[in-house]
Order: sequence, then C-alpha cells, then structure tokens
Amino acid sequence: MASHDATATATVPEMAPVFHPIVWGDFFINYNPEPLQMSEERMTERSNQLKEKIIGLFSCGTIVEQLNLVDTLQHLSVDHHFHEKIDSTLRSAHAGEFNSSSLHHVVLRFRILRQQGFWVSPEHNTNNKLTFRWWKNLYREVGLNYSRDRVVECYFWAYTAYYEKEYTRASMILAKIIAIIIMTDDTYDVRATLVECRQWEESATSFLPEYLQKFYLKLMSTFKEFEDELKPDNKYRVAFSTKAFQILSSNYLQEAEWFHQNHKPRFNDQVKVSSVCSGGPWICVGLLVGMGDAATKEALEWALGCTDAVRACAEVTRFMNDLASLKRGKNKNDVASSVECYISEQGVASEVAIAKIGSLIEDAWKTTNQAHFELPELLLPAVQRVANITISMPFMYDNKTDAFTFSSRLEGTIKRLFVNPIKL
Ligand SMILES: [Mg+2]
Repeated sequence: MASHDATATATVPEMAPVFHPIVWGDFFINYNPEPLQMSEERMTERSNQLKEKIIGLFSCGTIVEQLNLVDTLQHLSVDHHFHEKIDSTLRSAHAGEFNSSSLHHVVLRFRILRQQGFWVSPEHNTNNKLTFRWWKNLYREVGLNYSRDRVVECYFWAYTAYYEKEYTRASMILAKIIAIIIMTDDTYDVRATLVECRQWEESATSFLPEYLQKFYLKLMSTFKEFEDELKPDNKYRVAFSTKAFQILSSNYLQEAEWFHQNHKPRFNDQVKVSSVCSGGPWICVGLLVGMGDAATKEALEWALGCTDAVRACAEVTRFMNDLASLKRGKNKNDVASSVECYISEQGVASEVAIAKIGSLIEDAWKTTNQAHFELPELLLPAVQRVANITISMPFMYDNKTDAFTFSSRLEGTIKRLFVNPIKL
C-alpha cells in the first residue's frame, strides 16, 4: 500500500502549469486600421478586374498550366473566388486523356484531382507507361526511327539496377538515359555525317538538319524534366549527368573522326575512348540522379571521375559488346573494335585477341569486387548500384551474342519479370 501511494504521488504534477499572459493585451480593442488607400468602391472594382484576369487564364494554356493555376490559387487561399472555373477545369482534366511523360505532371494531376474528390487510379504501371510514352514521342514523332526500337529493353536494363519500388524515380530516369545512349550511338553509327557529328558536338543547333534539331531540343526538355522531378537541393545532380553526356558525345565524335579517316587507333587509345562510348560511364552517373539521399555530391563526383568500379563497368560493357559484335557484325560507321585493334597491333590470331579481352573482363570483375571494400563507406550505396549494372551485362552480351540488339533473346526474361505473375 505504501509503494502504491508513492507511485501515485510521483505521477501527479505538484502544481498546475503556468501559462504566459496574452501577448496582444488590449491591442485589438483599441486598434483603428489606417484609412484605405482607395475608396471601398474602387477596391471592389480593382478586385473584380483582377478576378476577370485570373478567369481569363483558365481559358488558355495547356491542361498542366491550368492545373498549376488551380494549385497556386489553392495555396494562396483565394480559390473560393473561382469555384465554377476550378470545377469545370478539373472535370475536363479528369475526363480527358492525359499523355504527359513527366512524373511531376502526373503527380500534380493525381494530387489535385484526388484532393477535390475525383477518382484517379493510383496504378504505379504509371511509371513504365510514362517511359514508353516519352520514347514513343522521341522515336516516332521526332523521327529517329533509324535507331533500335528498344524501350522495353532499356526499361529492363534500368530495372537491373533498381528493382525496389521506392526507387522508381531513379529507375525511370535511368531507363531514359539508357534510351538516349542507344539513340545517340545509332545516330553517330548509322545516320549522321561527320559534319553533323561535329555540329552536334559544338551545339551548333541552327546548322543541324531538322531531325537532329528536334532530337537536341527533346534532350534539353528531358534534362529539364529530370530537374523538375528533384527536390531543390538535389537539382544540381542533373548538371553532373549533363557533363557525363557531353563527355560521351566528345568520345563518339572521336570515334567518328577515326572512322572517317580510316584510322585504326592503338589498342589502349581505342579502349580509352570506346569504353566511354559503351555508355557505361554516363549510366553510372545517371543512375544517381533520381536516387535518394545516398546519392551525395561525393558519390556523383566519384562516378563522373570514371575510376575503379565505374571504369570496370565501362570496360565490361565495351569488351562484352565487342566480343558479341564479332558474331553480330558492325554498323555502317563503326570504328575498329578492341579485338580488331589488338589483332592489328600485336599481329596475333583472333583467338589470342579474344582470350586477351576475356582476361581484361576478368580483371574488371575483380576491380568491381575490390571497390566494395576499398572505397569509403559513404560511397557504398552508389558502388552497389554501379555493380548491379555491371552484373547485368551477361543478360545483354553473354555467350558472345548481343541480346539487346537481337532482343527476342530477352523476351522470356522480360515476360517472367513484368508480364507473367508468379503462381502462388
Ligand atoms: Mg557506336
């Protein structure tokens, strides 16, 4: 009994809390506002003019601009002046088809409609649909149909790096980057002239033919969309990705120069350039753009520096692709491959060159493994995603075949992952 009383005493406050006195005192009892700067009649007239101006905005612009207008009015708490207009805008946004490939726009539409009571499916297939629509626009409407039509395979490739739901943004951005690499590679290899390649590199857009001008503008708008999808303090990541794309373009141009000069480079020079042209280095930077907080500035600097695991990723991609190209054959403007350059420089048979390339792939795997325990712990999340991409290469280029280009080889894998559910 004595201990029960002691507990009760301990839990009951000894004194009621003391609240501080009113901050305002009698201020509002004695307060007389300053006289209005204009008459009430004039104020009403001005208010009506502004309302008319806002109402006018509802009848122009895209549906995304109108949804942004609704969002702004709601944030300013003046939306109650525009009930009718907002209602009719939301009804038409809900009933009409919505084809934006921007995740930001889709989320805006979803949020505004759902908070006003309109049913919108939360189906996050939305992610791949957005990527496929973006591709359709770029590939067909911009007119890049000389390139490999492989958006599903790009999506699958990005999925090998990020399969978790919480990384869908990172995965979608990565899928688009891989798709851009494929289209740019094919542009250099099968379509553009050397002059056009140089103009592209110099961003001399006014001199470019129409199809490249459209491609360039679409790339710029895609990079802008990446920025829109990031928090303000993460937008700087896109500049790293853009820099990696510029490095890729410069190396594509070097390959084009070699091809048009009929020049067979030294093996080491060829590997240095063609490893970048594999797209691996940009993929390693690009996969960090949409990642969470683990994608630090240090991680982006490491990826852009193209050392250890990133270089290994590029080399595995290049060498496996080159071994596959022995069977696949080359594109119209393809420069001499690493295998060809090694044969030419060393004066050896193709079997010797193939064995050499195989041993370099082994070395790159070891570098990838070492990176896990040699690099600072802070970089490990980025290293793991880079390693995921490297590990995906056998899906694409195993057994000296190019399953990405001859994509029926990937059909079964893709169906098992995205189409046919596992029977429980
Ligand atoms: Mg190429």
